[in-house]
Amino acid sequence: MKPDKDLIIIGGGGAGLTAAQYGARANLRTLLIEETALGGQALVIEGLENYPGYPEPVSGYVFTQKFEEQARNFGADILIASVQSLTKEKDIFTVATTEGVRTAYAVILATGAQHRFLGVPGEKELSGRGVSYCATCDGPFFKNRKMLVVGGGDAACDESMFLAKLTDRIVMVHRRDRFRAQKSLADRVLRSPNIDVRFNTVVEKIHGVKTPMGMEKVGRVTLKDTLTGKTYEEDTDAVFVFIGTIPNTGLVPDLPKDEGGYILTDQRMQTSVPGLFCAGDVRATPFRQLVVAAGEGAVAAHSAAQYIDDILGQAYL
Ligand code: NAP
Repeated sequence: MKPDKDLIIIGGGGAGLTAAQYGARANLRTLLIEETALGGQALVIEGLENYPGYPEPVSGYVFTQKFEEQARNFGADILIASVQSLTKEKDIFTVATTEGVRTAYAVILATGAQHRFLGVPGEKELSGRGVSYCATCDGPFFKNRKMLVVGGGDAACDESMFLAKLTDRIVMVHRRDRFRAQKSLADRVLRSPNIDVRFNTVVEKIHGVKTPMGMEKVGRVTLKDTLTGKTYEEDTDAVFVFIGTIPNTGLVPDLPKDEGGYILTDQRMQTSVPGLFCAGDVRATPFRQLVVAAGEGAVAAHSAAQYIDDILGQAYL
């Protein structure tokens, strides 16, 4: 049986869109399936400043539109649908989606990762009412107000710098005594007069207050100094949580993963299942960057093309 497509890519972030471009350009009948909006995490970057070839910061939205345009120009098809299951029988993969079933010789998983929750009282209840996981999306609502940022990695530092343009009252709390973030980013945060960094500090609770309209919104937090064990309350209008990511691997529960749950591949992006490749933030990779995701997407598509040639007996030996 000939499948509908040669290659299906699941996930339309930087890795998936690049894989779609490379797959289609290699003359594979390529379909990219994305659940929500193309662009993935890059979509919410306010000013992307470290993608080679873009010396001036570019909005993630504009940038990923160009990724999409390029993939479509080479002939990739794009389907907006939620993938429900992924199975393989003989040499054919079956991808069941909310828009029907699609089949292919090879699949690239580029499903990315989602934000991690703090798991403290008040977080869930006040989500969307001052608790946020996206500074670009929600920061402007709190212009000139006080905001608390939780986390110590690149995301927390990057997003704090963005928020520091909106207000001079940012409190940033990190559970350790120094940042995990790249030094250049961490130094920028530490130098910012608008950011009050508190190390060895954790959030214990997020408290709501009633607005004059009777709505509940973030009003203050209980913080704990982990060195002294002392707790204290801090007023804040918003809590931005950037404490890492969880890979989206629900479709492939049985694939080998690292201790963080990220999918293991070889250097050709091949997973333990022949014909199933993986790229981007869902993969076990030492450096999660858009440029890395794009590079991995290109390698995965190239490997998929070679794999397909191989199973069809067209390999260049
Ligand atoms: P990350 O690098 O994993 O950092 C997560 C931070 O949150 C760590 O500092 C961690 O503390 C802290 N944390 C984790 N769980 C916590 C909890 N329950 N309570 C309090 N704090 C907690 O995650 P990320 O910053 O989201 O970055 C994810 C990936 O994307 C990284 O590879 C990063 O390099 C990349 N990224 C890059 C950029 C950029 O280059 N501009 C921007 C954003 C993201 P510990 O340090 O104690 O573990």
